[in-house]
Amino acid sequence: MKIYNTLSKRKEEFVPLEEGKVKMYVCGPTVYNLIHIGNARPMIVFDTVRRYMEHKGYEVNYVSNFTDVDDKIIAKAIEEGTTAEEVSQRYIAECKKDMADMNVKPATTHPLATQEIDGMIDMIQTLIDKGFAYPVADGTVYFRVKKFKEYGKLSHKNLDDLQSGFRSLQVSGEDQKEDPLDFVLWKPKKEGEPSWPSPWCDGRPGWHIECSVMSKKYLGEEIDIHAGGEDLVFPHHENEIAQSECCNGKQFARYWMHNAFLNIDNKKMSKSLGNFFTVREVGEEYDLQVLRFFMLSAHYRSPLNFSRDLMTAAKNGLDRIVTCGTALKDYAAAASGNATEEEKKLMGELQGFVDKFDAAMDDDFNTADGISAIFELVKFANTNVNETSSAEFVNAVFDTLKELSDIMGLIVVKEEEILDADIEALIQERQDARKAKNFARADEIRDQLLKQGIVLKDTREGVKWTRA
Ligand code: AMP
Ligand code: ZN
Repeated sequence: MKIYNTLSKRKEEFVPLEEGKVKMYVCGPTVYNLIHIGNARPMIVFDTVRRYMEHKGYEVNYVSNFTDVDDKIIAKAIEEGTTAEEVSQRYIAECKKDMADMNVKPATTHPLATQEIDGMIDMIQTLIDKGFAYPVADGTVYFRVKKFKEYGKLSHKNLDDLQSGFRSLQVSGEDQKEDPLDFVLWKPKKEGEPSWPSPWCDGRPGWHIECSVMSKKYLGEEIDIHAGGEDLVFPHHENEIAQSECCNGKQFARYWMHNAFLNIDNKKMSKSLGNFFTVREVGEEYDLQVLRFFMLSAHYRSPLNFSRDLMTAAKNGLDRIVTCGTALKDYAAAASGNATEEEKKLMGELQGFVDKFDAAMDDDFNTADGISAIFELVKFANTNVNETSSAEFVNAVFDTLKELSDIMGLIVVKEEEILDADIEALIQERQDARKAKNFARADEIRDQLLKQGIVLKDTREGVKWTRA
């Protein structure tokens, strides 16, 4: 499996630190608003990377943070007359809902910056002790960039060029810095802001230190993959490398993966430009499976322009796969028996589609070619499976389609939702069973409904039910 590594600017063979295991960290969103579909791109792309790694047999430890302390969260809390915590908790819940609707798996761990302050203070202290950081009179702590000779290795920037660029940018009030390149690790609190005590002043952490600390705590000092959108390469990821490698004395991450932007009218979709659609808005018009398919129809390192035409094309493409899946499900329900000689021969061709799919994904996760392999399988199924096919053959084709689609996070066959009328009928049957003192049957019905997400509650007015 080859991965394009931003560090070397080349595709490299993936070799995990520990056989059979992948440690992966993906920078998550700052939670002060509903996420937009630009934020959804790394979520969908790296969830697909994870799913493919799992399909290859790796055990993936996938960590993705929520940045829940930040100027924008505080500004929103002030605007609404509430606390930063209330704002961030609300948007974390909303984000998790969007992720579920896009079929993005929950991370192994979703750490919150505000829960990891002690670890951040420890890392900053270590950096000070090692001479890589220094506090100034007002209690701000800065990282001493020039002390880290490899600074710039990820963004391929040269320290001297950075130096001249930054000189003109020096912000007033930052004149306590030794050098314009130095960045903040800890900053003093302002009135009304959340803050934590520290050896330097009451205050809060800078953004970059969060990820170094959470990655170390949940994955260890050395990890396999660190990922995020390409805007994070500099300064965020460059600064994370500086902090982690100076603190731990080890290479931080072996492979650095960055997705290109989702654009609109060929401009980056972003909250600050105001040219964005939230996932929620898009979800009102399309099933979010369509958004997922749209994202995966391009390579993750190519810019992708959001347009109605492309979403329509994505919808049509997804429909072809889902229609095939539904037909296979129906054939499977009615079919019986073992494969004929002819079908056995055809079954021998199935591995070819999987191999084609794997070859595409092994080449730096070429999801566009992976989807083409799925389309070829769909064509094969449409040509060769029908109501006379044996169960063995239908199931073999159906399983292959489900397996490949699942790696893309595409749901081929939705579990059917139980209808209200069927629920009422089962509840009535349960009441009758109880009256007849057939409690085993009554319990069986309750459990059956529970499995389908229906919760029963016995009240004085009779049985009430809710969908979980
Ligand atoms: P933020 O909340 O701005 O820190 O962004 C969270 C994640 O979304 C980061 O990995 C960003 O790089 C990524 N991101 C933000 N906007 C876009 C966009 N228009 N296209 C692709 N990725 C984006
Ligand atoms: Zn980060």
